[in-house]
Amino acid sequence: MDLKQYITIVQDWPKPGIKFKDITTLMDNGDAYRYATDKIVEYAREKQIDLVVGPEARGFIIGCPVAYSLGVGFAPVRKEGKLPRETVKVDYGLEYGKDVLTIHKDAIKPGQRVLITDDLLATGGTIEATIKLVEQLGGIVAGIAFLIELSYLNGRDKLEKYDILTLMNY
Ligand code: IMP
Repeated sequence: MDLKQYITIVQDWPKPGIKFKDITTLMDNGDAYRYATDKIVEYAREKQIDLVVGPEARGFIIGCPVAYSLGVGFAPVRKEGKLPRETVKVDYGLEYGKDVLTIHKDAIKPGQRVLITDDLLATGGTIEATIKLVEQLGGIVAGIAFLIELSYLNGRDKLEKYDILTLMNY
């Protein structure tokens, strides 16, 4: 299936000069959403994943159906102040902005094999921060899966040590 036909490119959003890749038109289509999910599930099975971790909010959209299908748990990574119990945190830089990401301190057991999911790899800042959180808690980043990679932003350079799956490339 050619998944790109389900992505809508929005010019100059959220800022002038950005060509935003809108995945909601892929999620709107049951066949496309299932196909993309199944591709990531196939990859995760090879990596013998114990837990899926994804940053808010689109990392949940990708990661939760994968976790459900694998029969493993999902741990959310959220902006500061959103998780109710004790967290660990990390600062990160975005393609457009700066922020802090957090995860519950007890979300990952040391040695667990983790799949990280997000919708899109741009500069890699979000995933680099997510990796730091997983590793701080003793998790092993066994794989990272995205729907989309913006290869012209060279996000992969930050993730050289890790195994990455991307379903679409721009
Ligand atoms: P990075 O941290 O620069 O790799 O940016 C990736 C993060 O920004 C992901 O969590 C994406 O959800 C979001 N993002 C950046 N650009 C886009 C886009 O064009 N479409 C959808 N999400 C984007």
